[in-house]
Amino acid sequence: MTTLPPKADLHTPMRTTFDAQRRHASKMALTSADQRIERIRRIQTWIKIHQSDIQQVMYDDFRKPSAEVLLGELMALHAEIKHTIGHLKQWMKPQSLPTPMALIGTRSYFRHEPKGNVLIIAPWNYPFVLTIRPLVSAIAAGNVAILKPSELTPHTAGLINKMITALFPPEEVAVFEGDADVSKALLELPFNHIFFTGSPAVGRIVMAAAANHLASVTLELGGKSPAIVDETADIKQAAGQLAWGKCLNNGQTCIAPDYLLVHQSIKQPFMQALHDTLTGMYRPDGKPVEASDSYARIVNQPHFQRIKNLVDDAVNKGATITYGGRMNADQNFIEPTVLEGTTDDMRVMQDEIFGPVLPVLTYTNLDDALHIVNQREKPLALYIHSRNRKNTQYILDRTSAGDTVINDTLVQFGNVELPFGGVNNSGLGKSNGFFSFQEFSNQRGVMQRDFGTMKFIYPPYTEKVKKLINFLVTYL
Ligand code: NAD
Repeated sequence: MTTLPPKADLHTPMRTTFDAQRRHASKMALTSADQRIERIRRIQTWIKIHQSDIQQVMYDDFRKPSAEVLLGELMALHAEIKHTIGHLKQWMKPQSLPTPMALIGTRSYFRHEPKGNVLIIAPWNYPFVLTIRPLVSAIAAGNVAILKPSELTPHTAGLINKMITALFPPEEVAVFEGDADVSKALLELPFNHIFFTGSPAVGRIVMAAAANHLASVTLELGGKSPAIVDETADIKQAAGQLAWGKCLNNGQTCIAPDYLLVHQSIKQPFMQALHDTLTGMYRPDGKPVEASDSYARIVNQPHFQRIKNLVDDAVNKGATITYGGRMNADQNFIEPTVLEGTTDDMRVMQDEIFGPVLPVLTYTNLDDALHIVNQREKPLALYIHSRNRKNTQYILDRTSAGDTVINDTLVQFGNVELPFGGVNNSGLGKSNGFFSFQEFSNQRGVMQRDFGTMKFIYPPYTEKVKKLINFLVTYL
């Protein structure tokens, strides 16, 4: 296990580990698909054996319900591992490409080669899967890796450290626990690729640091993901999906619906269905939500205070709490809270909420709803609840988002075949299955001449050569 000295001396063990990994990177690059799969299986087996430990550390970190550890962390991770093991041989095969007539006598292909030394920086909200899932792809692509889990979920970070120390030599995979200072010190090292999951603000810092070494980056970021519920939506189903999407992990989900745009004509039954669903999920027996073991907590005091400030600011500026609203600072507890009457000058409509607070806005003209979406940064997710194909297509054509789900929420994370990620402020690059493998690989083009030559176009450029060049440009 890597134990860190005081902050001033952070760089020495990192540099030592980084250098050892750099020396080892060429060996990892030469590993076969079977050898990489054997490494991924080590992770798979460890997770199966230690499932209850994984559930326990996340309960200790923020009372994440064990069912949500399975649903939000381990289900996606197992799917990624199985998919990678099943497809890696295919992904590693060189892929031939067509050859233009002018280059007759040559053949072209590309191969995926590992980027080399990679750094994976993870957030706290899904602390296990968002550290280990990119690692699976990094190993699949033949890289060596350093992991930096989040300091806000120390029990999970400690378990990840234990797991990696048990499964890999440090020159192959190593963990450095700690806060932003540890992250910043790591970012000074000349990694070949940085895979960062976290906030857009820190994403900018990571990208600026990567620029010093021209390291490539994958940035899995966040932001305000809207959900549009039009007049044709299945009201009960949409309300249920959105209530679940908002409150899973206590709203601390990057792809949680951040705010809703509901068609005015269905507002009343929709709000009723939303309130009923929230009560059914977290107060089935009429007891306060605090008593529910299906409801996680806000990760720490600063985040509790941040969300409370968002609600206070909205209420002070005229918004109304129409459901929930109770908070308990001692427990970092915030009840599922629905806000109506929010406006753009309120911080809750500016910042990513990242908690169980849901502003509901209404619209009568779809273009007005799209204007609200499009005046903000491009979201990580945009949800559409509609039974009208024309409306759905209209929204898809006039907005941009990392991913869109029609008539559900959050499920995009579960399909490893689907590119997952943001666009601009919500992220750069994609993950999931093959897309992750690609992020951790350099697509190296290779061209080989088997016969023939291009000698006939070399200088001196006589009239005959010029005619030939002209012919090539015109006809081939
Ligand atoms: P964060 O950006 O605060 O922290 C992420 C990681 O960066 C942590 O490991 C942290 O130690 C490190 N870090 C913090 N400050 C740093 C600095 N100044 N320099 C270098 N490293 C630093 O994010 P968070 O609070 O852990 O996570 C919440 C955010 O992550 C939300 O915006 C959420 O939407 C986003 N997120 C995105 C995805 C996705 O897949 N797109 C998934 C989960 C979370």
